Amino acid sequence: MMKKKIAILVYCLCLFVITAVRKPLMRAFAIMNDQNLKGMIIVIDAGHGGNDPGARISGQDEDEINLDLALKLKSILERAGANVEMTRTDDVDLSDAGAEHIKRSDMEHRAEILNHEDVTLFVSLHCNTSADQRCTGSQVYYRKEDEVSRKLADTIQDHLRVVTSSKYIPASGDFYLLNMTNTLGVLIETGFMTNPADLSKLQDEKYREDLAYAIYKGISEFLSVLV
Ligand SMILES: [Zn+2]
Repeated sequence: MMKKKIAILVYCLCLFVITAVRKPLMRAFAIMNDQNLKGMIIVIDAGHGGNDPGARISGQDEDEINLDLALKLKSILERAGANVEMTRTDDVDLSDAGAEHIKRSDMEHRAEILNHEDVTLFVSLHCNTSADQRCTGSQVYYRKEDEVSRKLADTIQDHLRVVTSSKYIPASGDFYLLNMTNTLGVLIETGFMTNPADLSKLQDEKYREDLAYAIYKGISEFLSVLV
């Protein structure tokens, strides 16, 4: 009787361990064996920071979520062999000291980094807000009439859809950063801070890890046609 109990206990323990490590192990294996990103130069733009916290909902600043997600994505992309540049790695903005228009100065410096000729592609990370609290899920935006960036938006959205259950499809967006750049790249709204369920997920470390992995998979799939 005692032996049976121990056997059940060991079985449950094994099952728990297998479930807990399976996903990270499978991901680590996929990242390690990825040939699509080798030598690519990818810029990650963590939206807002410093003087500009972005959206602020229920005490949560958007720039913190964007930065943590950006750092998680950086780690994955580097493990896959990409050269990663960040517009910021801390709680700062990029405006010149004493600039009259802080936001404009900040955006100009970000655009300078993204427009560098060596850049393969960029992703700018943000969180969405809406007057309608029911709005939920991620949406990827691309530059108007930029068909290649639209394809990148498609593959990233496909992978994010699995994580965020988003019903959105990629859209061309009239965003300052997209209008100021000419490099291949997209702006990702990872979820709605105004939706309580989205906000609580965005605040969850494991969920942000899933988002980062989904964005990486989207980039990798897009690049797979080039290598
Ligand atoms: Zn934002």
